Amino acid sequence: MKLQLKNDPSRHFDLPREIAQILLLMPGSVVAEVPPPPVKRGVGIWQIVEGVFSGRISLSVSCSVCGSAMVSGAQKAHEQKFIHCGTSEACPPEVANQWREVFKRLEPGSGRLIRRSPSDADDPVTQAFKRSRVHCQI
Ligand SMILES: [Zn+2]
Repeated sequence: MKLQLKNDPSRHFDLPREIAQILLLMPGSVVAEVPPPPVKRGVGIWQIVEGVFSGRISLSVSCSVCGSAMVSGAQKAHEQKFIHCGTSEACPPEVANQWREVFKRLEPGSGRLIRRSPSDADDPVTQAFKRSRVHCQI
């Protein structure tokens, strides 16, 4: 069991559990148990991505701490929870709103943006997506 001095937490001692517990229970004890290291938790990066080869648009989330990732082109992809780092994370509302709007502009089946004629300007949502999209290999 790891103990530390109360007046100098940088000094650690590794003692058999029975001895450590006796020292901890002594009146006026000068030692304390070393606290476990803090759990490192990441934050999911939620983004709408476009496949470099497939052109498929998907909602992607990944965590750089645990390496978990999820990619979905489902209509309700923004409602899925991202389980990682011992926690469950919901899609941020602004990304969920963007996904709902972009999904309306996807071809059923292919998951690609609906092609408009060259003379037909994209609507504001599609323009905003095209400026902010991230390309990935899906
Ligand atoms: Zn994580």
